[in-house]
Amino acid sequence: MAIEHFHDEPTSLEVAMRSCCPRCGEGKLFKGFLTLADRCDRCGLDLSFAEPADGPAFFVMTGIGIVVIALFAWIAVVWQPPIWFHFVTVFPALILGCLGTLRPVKAWLVAEQYIHKAEEGQWASLGGHGEGGFGLRGRAAERQSED
Ligand SMILES: [Zn+2]
Repeated sequence: MAIEHFHDEPTSLEVAMRSCCPRCGEGKLFKGFLTLADRCDRCGLDLSFAEPADGPAFFVMTGIGIVVIALFAWIAVVWQPPIWFHFVTVFPALILGCLGTLRPVKAWLVAEQYIHKAEEGQWASLGGHGEGGFGLRGRAAERQSED
């Protein structure tokens, strides 16, 4: 098992695929099936910021619903199978599809939350955007230099 991104910040896709910590990419993100760990067991990142709430369920149900229903419609038109075929394929596909994707989708949303927070800090620290309200320190410095 080769981990190529040791101590590198993983992309949100990697976090989704591996359910790993969004900062170090090493620790575990979950302590249960869908219960987030309190903190990363490798780098100690506090995971209490991460609360996607109903986000994962919404994305998963919408996404899987569209994919499965599209497949169902395609199969129904092309193959015209008997109705029982749909019952034994569509419902398992919906259930397994939702269960199988909930975890990666939740991990992905947590990673997006983490990345967004990290970027917020960087953006504010750029400052100096003039009238935007973010460059207060810059404008104060300008005023001082005018005196
Ligand atoms: Zn970590």
